[in-house]
Amino acid sequence: MDREDYLERLGATTDEPADLFEHFEQRSVGGRTHHVLTAARHGVERGTVIVEESDAVVRGYPSIPRVLVLEPGIPSFFQGTDSVAIEEKLDGFNVRIAVAGDDGDAPLAFTRGGYVCPYTTARARDRLPLAAFFAEHPTKVLCTELIGPETPYTSHDYEDIDSHEFRVFDVRDRESGDPVPVADRRTLCAEYGVGQPRWFGRSEPSAAVETVRDAIDELDAAGREGVVVKSADGESMIKYTTESHHHAELAYAFSLPFEHGRDFVFSRIVRDAFQAVESGDSDDRLRERARDLGESILHPMVSTIRDVRDGDQVGERHTVRGDPDAIDALFEHLDDQSLTIDRRFDRREDDERVVAFVKVAESSRDRIQYYLDGGTR
Ligand code: ATP
Repeated sequence: MDREDYLERLGATTDEPADLFEHFEQRSVGGRTHHVLTAARHGVERGTVIVEESDAVVRGYPSIPRVLVLEPGIPSFFQGTDSVAIEEKLDGFNVRIAVAGDDGDAPLAFTRGGYVCPYTTARARDRLPLAAFFAEHPTKVLCTELIGPETPYTSHDYEDIDSHEFRVFDVRDRESGDPVPVADRRTLCAEYGVGQPRWFGRSEPSAAVETVRDAIDELDAAGREGVVVKSADGESMIKYTTESHHHAELAYAFSLPFEHGRDFVFSRIVRDAFQAVESGDSDDRLRERARDLGESILHPMVSTIRDVRDGDQVGERHTVRGDPDAIDALFEHLDDQSLTIDRRFDRREDDERVVAFVKVAESSRDRIQYYLDGGTR
């Protein structure tokens, strides 16, 4: 593999191949060698994959900056931009779908970390018109969010989604990462009949503040995550999230208290504090927010300590359904990542296999047990 050539193709901000390539990890996928970037480096996104044999590059999805206040956050971030589009930010799992090889290869689903998830690949082939799309757009990547209560990675409930579905929120060039402009991408997705995130409108940046405020109120009341504001060309994006989402994330983090870094927890509290100030929370409203925030910290943690005390399993709970072979491949994939999996049930429903399992949170379980046994800090 010609590292100098890849450095140029990736547009890396270093001239020294070793600077970038020391962060690549080699994985074998279906008889091919995938070189995967394990952390964002030198202007190249985490999860970027180079497939050695086919010379294909699949770019990682860029990180989306967050504003803590809408005013002046939105107008100042989009200074010089004529118009922005506002879309719902869905709470699921980022999956890039691309043909990472030669013409005629089947599309693969890449996780944010650049792993090929066999289960998600099988579901995407089943549920999205991939053959038709990639026949016309072979060098594009479909950036999707896998959402719903039955996925191996997230489990947020959405009205009208019983199991799981894909929503396409971006279409990019596979190698350069250049996005299709927002309006064209929405038309393209509509043509192929694929699901997309909700659309809240388009306006000049300062007018978007009010639209986002209204959208956030509505999404918050429905327990949904938030919005992404995008320049019309799709190049620049920012995100902003709801109070209910901050609290749900805190509840999740504190249900597995020794799994998540302190930064994770602190950043959610900071988001809530800035939101309270910008929203002009009254004393009563602030007290309500504070109580809710406190409850999302203490209740889940107490519940987990009780679970450990009572000998119950602790960890993330998931259910998956689909083709039996794809489910076997999923468990092999999770094993490869050294996760400890506890299967709760494994049964047939019609012609599908349904498995409920826990990704065991060993750090939290062991530390809690140690303290319950009288261990000191
Ligand atoms: P970062 O973006 O900094 O890497 P992160 O991995 O924690 O942070 P999130 O805070 O979840 O990611 O925000 C970015 C993700 O939001 C995207 O990677 C994508 O999976 C998801 N997303 C959901 N809906 C949309 C949307 N409409 N447009 C863009 N991204 C969306």
